[in-house]
Amino acid sequence: MSRMTKTRALMLMLAMIVALGSYLFVRSPWLGLGDAAQSQTPKYIFIFLADGAGITHMEMARMYSRVVHNEGLNIPDKIMKQGSIGLITTHAADSLTTDSAAAATAMASGCKAKIGALGICDDGTIPKTVMEIAKEKGMRIGLVTNSTIYDASPAAFAGHVSNRKYYSLICDGYLRLGVDLLLGGGRNEFLPQGQPGSSRKDDNDLIAAFVRQGYTYISDKTELFKAKGSKLLGLFSVQEMSFELDRDKDKEPSVADMTQAAIRFLEEGNRRGFMVFIENENPDSAGHLTDVASVIHAYREFDRAVGLAYEFYRRHPRETLILATSDHETGGLGFTLALEEPSGRDAKRLAATERDFKKIASIPISLKKAGEILGSNPTSDSVDRLMRDYFKGFILAPDLKEMLLSKRTPARNLYTDPIANTLGLMVANNTQAYWGTAGHTSQPVFVAALGVGSEKFRGYQDNTDFAKHLFSLLRQ
Ligand SMILES: [Zn+2]
Repeated sequence: MSRMTKTRALMLMLAMIVALGSYLFVRSPWLGLGDAAQSQTPKYIFIFLADGAGITHMEMARMYSRVVHNEGLNIPDKIMKQGSIGLITTHAADSLTTDSAAAATAMASGCKAKIGALGICDDGTIPKTVMEIAKEKGMRIGLVTNSTIYDASPAAFAGHVSNRKYYSLICDGYLRLGVDLLLGGGRNEFLPQGQPGSSRKDDNDLIAAFVRQGYTYISDKTELFKAKGSKLLGLFSVQEMSFELDRDKDKEPSVADMTQAAIRFLEEGNRRGFMVFIENENPDSAGHLTDVASVIHAYREFDRAVGLAYEFYRRHPRETLILATSDHETGGLGFTLALEEPSGRDAKRLAATERDFKKIASIPISLKKAGEILGSNPTSDSVDRLMRDYFKGFILAPDLKEMLLSKRTPARNLYTDPIANTLGLMVANNTQAYWGTAGHTSQPVFVAALGVGSEKFRGYQDNTDFAKHLFSLLRQ
């Protein structure tokens, strides 16, 4: 062997030793904090879901928070910066554009489902959900939402029905499974038929049945913060809870309020940990109404709830996993360059600026509430009064006023509520925050993950992988 060849061989050996060393360092479960975390099952799992929120919903809330409040957001500033970011597909088994039932089934059970199906795969199989596995492991489980507690997203994590509208069956299933904490709206399905507000078709008094099983029942914000016991049922409205803009802050808890109570409740005296699903429904419901102000307020409120979990993570960094995600995007929302008048390509184009966030901040009510104020027969006077009282500085174009008075559906893709969708167009004309549709879109959504196992959620994945990663973390 020549001297040159010997030197090369020595260098090659050295390179191999370095490579092997770094491989062992990266892979070894007993070296380094990050890898210790990789080999563990998280004891505390938070699944935050902003229903209907795409990346633009978060970005609008982020920019709004900076411009209007000089604040950041926990999800991009803390969870994404310190943890992992992934993107997941959203399509259902039978449609490129999903609904919340099929999407949440994929994320809770790990299989594609048809639109409307809850916890039942396209091939008819019924796998256990991640929350059912967590329960079997002795973890406490909780569902929190400002929608009805039986709505598709929470229901898919804890139940199996062929149609998301079988609300009574879903609520009965929660009792059978023994979900330790249920906080949300939807008292109508817990009251026996004949009682004011009941939607049940039978005489089952489900609140009484939960109390008999040892649950503490509460129905307002004050009771929520005082509640004690081992199991908790909180139903804060007959149907969905209010949009953040319209919420009575003395009586009705926000999602962050419910999150704070859930953490206290699930952590107390609990040696095996918990899995909690926490949803803000309103990026979706406000998206269907093309209501940008309500979406931003809902997302900021959702982010505050994630911030509470982040504080918990800081106290239990080696035992906690936080996932902040969505099921699909609603509305195809975004700032754009649009024409001032719909009179043709030569009309002036208006660019969005930071001033538009201040205009959005001046809107004091949701478009749902605005529709209620206008009533079913708006007049020219009532429309002018609404604009004067609630949309100061906004201009209502004559064609949109005509649309409001005739209650005409604005377009084929803007159809969920003629009044709200027309008012949404009015807000868009004044702020350049336009909607592509009043329905769901096929966009992928992000998963922000922090803590034990968070690296599994990195990269571009199918939404069924979300459940598969949770299964593998739970089964370690
Ligand atoms: Zn929706």
